Amino acid sequence: MRNKLRIRLSQTPLQAEILLCFVIFTLIFAGILFVMQIVLPARIYKNNTIRETQQLASDLYETFAARDVLAFKQEIDRASLDNHVCISVYKENGRFVYNTCVLNYHCLLHGGNSLVREFSEELRKSDDGSISMTVYDEDLQMDMLVIGIMLGSPENPDGYLFLNAALEQSGANTRAQKQLIIIASLILMIIGFIISFIVSRLLSVPITRITESANRMAKGDYETKFEGGSCLEVDELAKSLTYAEHEISKADMMQRDLIANVSHDLRTPLTMLKAYAEMIRDLSGDNPVKREAHLKIIIDETDRLAALVNDILDLSKLENGTQKLEIQQIDVTAWLSDIIQRYKGVSEQMGYHISFTPDTTCTVECDSAKMERVICNLINNAINYTGDDKQVFVSQVNTESAVRIEVRDTGQGIEEDKIQKIFDKYYRSENHKREVVGTGLGLSIVKAILKLHNCSFGVHSRLGEGSVFWFELPKV
Ligand code: ADP
Repeated sequence: MRNKLRIRLSQTPLQAEILLCFVIFTLIFAGILFVMQIVLPARIYKNNTIRETQQLASDLYETFAARDVLAFKQEIDRASLDNHVCISVYKENGRFVYNTCVLNYHCLLHGGNSLVREFSEELRKSDDGSISMTVYDEDLQMDMLVIGIMLGSPENPDGYLFLNAALEQSGANTRAQKQLIIIASLILMIIGFIISFIVSRLLSVPITRITESANRMAKGDYETKFEGGSCLEVDELAKSLTYAEHEISKADMMQRDLIANVSHDLRTPLTMLKAYAEMIRDLSGDNPVKREAHLKIIIDETDRLAALVNDILDLSKLENGTQKLEIQQIDVTAWLSDIIQRYKGVSEQMGYHISFTPDTTCTVECDSAKMERVICNLINNAINYTGDDKQVFVSQVNTESAVRIEVRDTGQGIEEDKIQKIFDKYYRSENHKREVVGTGLGLSIVKAILKLHNCSFGVHSRLGEGSVFWFELPKV
C-alpha cells in the first residue's frame, strides 16, 4: 500500500503533490472545526438536557412527596426558567393543576400541540410510573424531549407531572454560529489553496529550472547556470550541480587536451622516425657521417617516444590505483646523498652544479623507488629550468613530525596564475629561456605519487628569482 502510494506520488508533479497535501490538510482542519464546534456541542447539549431534565423530574417528585404545595409550585417556576423546560401538572382524573411554559407555540404540553392525553396514556401503561420519550418536531425540525412521572404511589396516583424540553439549541445565536463556522471553513480552504499554490510554485519552479539546466549540461553545454531559489536545499543542489558542471567540463577539456596532446606527441616523433629512416635509405645510406647523425636522431626520437609512452602508462597506473606502494624504512640523508651523487657525473659534464644541504639523519617510511622518481623529476626540472648560473640546491629540513625536502633552482620562476596548472597533465609552459624536451607529464607523476603517500607538497616561486618545489615525508 505504502509502496503503491510512493510510486503514485513519485509520478505526480511536485506542485500538484504540495497542492494536494494542503487541500487535504485544510479539509481535515475544517472537518475537525465542524465536529468540535457543531457536532460535538449538539450531542453534549442533548445528553446534558436529557440528564438534567430527568434529574429535575425526580427532584420535583420528591418535593411533591413532601406535600408542600407552595414549595412545589415555586420549584416548578424556578426549574422551568433556569432549565428552559415546560412543566405541567395534572390530577389523576386529567384535570389541569399547574403549568409553566417557555417553548410557547412549540410546547407539546399546551395549546393546540398538546399531546398530554397520549402521554398520560403511555404513563399509565408504564411499569415504573415514568416515561421518557423523544418526539420529532416537524416545524422546528428538531427532537423534543418529554418526560412524564406519576406523582404519589403507582398503585394510588395523585396526578401526573410532565416536562418538555428542546433537545437542540435554537435561536439566532446558534444559527449565526453555524453559519460563521461554515464561512470560516470556506475562507480557510480558499486561503489554504492560495498558500499551497504559492508555496508549491516557489518550490517547484527552481527545481524545474535546475532540471532544464541539467538537461542542457548533459547535452554538453557547460556554460549553463544553475540558479537556486526558495530554500536552502535547492540552493545547495544548485551549488553542487554548478560544482559538478565545473568538474565535468574540466574533465571533458582535459580528455580533449589529452587526446590532442598524445596524438600530437606521438605523431611528431613518428614522422621524424619515418623521415630520417627514408633519408638513410635514399640519401645518407652510403655516407657514414650523415648516416650516423641521422641514426642518432632516430635513436633520440625513439627514446623520447618510449619515455612518453612509459610516462602515460605509469601515470594511468598511478591514477587508477593499480600500482601498490611497497613501503620501506629509509634513512633520508643517505638516500638523498646517494641520488645526488649519481647525478653529479652527468650534470657536471654539462656544467651544472647540484648542491645538497642535509639535516641530521632521520628515518622515514615510503616506497623508495617511487619517491626516487619524485626527487629525480624535481631535480631534472630544476636542471632544465634553472638560470644561467646552472645551480640547483637540494636540501633536507627536519621539522617536528616530518622531513621536508626542497629542490630549488635560480631560473625565471613561474607566474602566479601558472602555478595552479603546472601539476596538470600535459601542461607545458613554452616561454622558457631554453627549449626543453619534455613530456609535460613529469609533475603529474610527482603529484600522483605524493598523493598516494598522503604527503603534503607545493611550490614557491618568484618571477626572476627561481622556484622551490617541496614535499614532506612523515617521520617514523
Ligand atoms: P615537462 O618538464 O616535461 O614540461 P613537467 O610536468 O615536469 O613537464 O612540468 C610542467 C611545466 O611546469 C613545465 O613545462 C614548466 O613550464 C613548469 N616547470 C616545472 N618545473 C619548473 C621549474 N623548476 N621552474 C620553472 N618552471 C617549471
